[in-house]
Amino acid sequence: MKKTVLITGAARGIGASCAELFAKNGYRVAINYFQSKLKAQALLEKIKQTGGCCEIFYADISNYDDVKKMHEEVENKLGDPDILINNAGISEQKLFTDITLEEWDEMFSVNSKGVFICCKEFLPSMIRKKQGRIINISSIWGVLGGSCEVHYSASKAAVIGLSKALAKEVALSNITVNCIAPGVISTDMMKIHSKQTIKLLEQEIACGRMGRPEDVANAALFLASDEASYITGQVLNVDGGF
Ligand code: NAP
Repeated sequence: MKKTVLITGAARGIGASCAELFAKNGYRVAINYFQSKLKAQALLEKIKQTGGCCEIFYADISNYDDVKKMHEEVENKLGDPDILINNAGISEQKLFTDITLEEWDEMFSVNSKGVFICCKEFLPSMIRKKQGRIINISSIWGVLGGSCEVHYSASKAAVIGLSKALAKEVALSNITVNCIAPGVISTDMMKIHSKQTIKLLEQEIACGRMGRPEDVANAALFLASDEASYITGQVLNVDGGF
């Protein structure tokens, strides 16, 4: 039977690449978008034209009411998700001393609380079915710490802590919870960096190039597969050897 995957922040970047790859592999794909409705619609058309099964769903993942509403809509159209990919995220470059309380809260509201809200909303049906996969997109900066990205790094480290703890709590329900920690991946998120900074970052990557969104999507597809059923509570770095 076909499985349903919900991918947050899937209108563009890594999320969009996951949506295309999962659709190509026969999953029913729920594409969540927040501000990029037109991009979500274009992706929907693209996937449907190639015979894939998908629908788009609005929600600000930091808003519990939005996520509850999205859950009802996903359930009605595609069935309750078997796989949840918490991909949506925001980033910002700032000296620690310039980060305001509001900016700290905003970062945690989307990157950490958003993951908590989506897990809280979608986990109960996975527990009932005794089957599920949660894949949380953290960041290499959540593992290593990134200069001028203290709030981002901390919010992504929180996702790792959440995943490791939740993995232990739900393992006997046949649910795995893992993180992917992407390195430097070529998406809109990297556009804040100058060409010079990108060059410097590339020099730190053993593979000698930035990652592609597909590199992350391939890892997510594996973690969602039956072959990954004995892997839980892990952080898989997809960083080209950063
Ligand atoms: P991106 O191209 O900037 O995309 C970010 C996505 O997050 C967008 O689809 C956006 O949706 C969504 N989003 C933001 N706030 C949201 C909210 N409140 N509710 C729902 N969706 C929201 O970035 P990306 O590079 O693909 O990043 C995807 C994930 O990978 C993020 O968690 C990011 O932190 C992580 N990551 C990226 C890199 C990298 O180098 N690119 C490295 C490490 C980790 P809308 O456009 O619809 O608003």
